[in-house]
Amino acid sequence: MRDVAIMYHYVQVPGLKGIHPLHPDLFEKQLDWVLQNYEVVVPDDLEKPRQSKPRCVITFDDATKDQYEIAFPILKSRGIPAYFTFMSGIFTNRKVPVVHLVHAALSFFTDEEIWEEICSKFDTSQVKENSQIYSYEPDIYRRYNKYALNFYLSEEESRSVLEPKLIEKFQTWDRFIESYYINLDEWKVINHAGMSIGVHAVDHKPYCGVAERFFANEIKPCKQFIQEHLGFSPKWYTPAFGGGTLYQDMILKLRPVLEKEGFAGGFTTLAGFNDENNRFWLNRFDCNRIPPVGNFE
Ligand SMILES: [Zn+2]
Repeated sequence: MRDVAIMYHYVQVPGLKGIHPLHPDLFEKQLDWVLQNYEVVVPDDLEKPRQSKPRCVITFDDATKDQYEIAFPILKSRGIPAYFTFMSGIFTNRKVPVVHLVHAALSFFTDEEIWEEICSKFDTSQVKENSQIYSYEPDIYRRYNKYALNFYLSEEESRSVLEPKLIEKFQTWDRFIESYYINLDEWKVINHAGMSIGVHAVDHKPYCGVAERFFANEIKPCKQFIQEHLGFSPKWYTPAFGGGTLYQDMILKLRPVLEKEGFAGGFTTLAGFNDENNRFWLNRFDCNRIPPVGNFE
């Protein structure tokens, strides 16, 4: 039977242009469609005997505030379980991952403006042909900006473009973090409501190519932070950027490390159904491909 997992990022009323959020009304309509066609489960339930319907896991990446303020209350009021993922670096070192600096900066400045600034500071001749990882972005400058800032430039170079712009807007990083992310008290509410919580990252870095080192830097501290502050040991993992450009290597090499450390599985950004053949790394369809927004079949 063909199970699915759906990948959600931002669920909110469109406003900030740096992101392409799913409108809450469409989120509700998707839930209607999902409930008609699937049994919605948390990842742990995938081990249990199935009912008559195929199963669906509703997943959230990046722990942004809208997930707590908009998606979570809708799910809770309808008794629908979902899987949320935790990022610990914003709590332990108050450092915002570059990917979210990018989303926020693109919300307050135009793509052309930011691309021009990047081109004026750095050699960007390789960006255009290598930016297919963001082929889901319809705007070509958005694609270049996201690839350049998330992958092509060094972290320091990206931060030198983005941080001054955002500090001008928010004054302090504490203010940015509180407004942008689910805070610890809110995580406790999500946990007590019976939602599933897994590891996303420490600092939202792509897979580095060395499984043990990556686990030690980007997964283990997040797992320990969850244990310490929410009182349970997470069993599920969602790699930042789906692993990034080295995702195929990650899929092969990181699995045994995760299994040794007690993880039951992980969620990729590869589109596709899930069946008996992929029980560790699970595919996900982006929510934009789910009816009534899109048609994934
Ligand atoms: Zn992410």
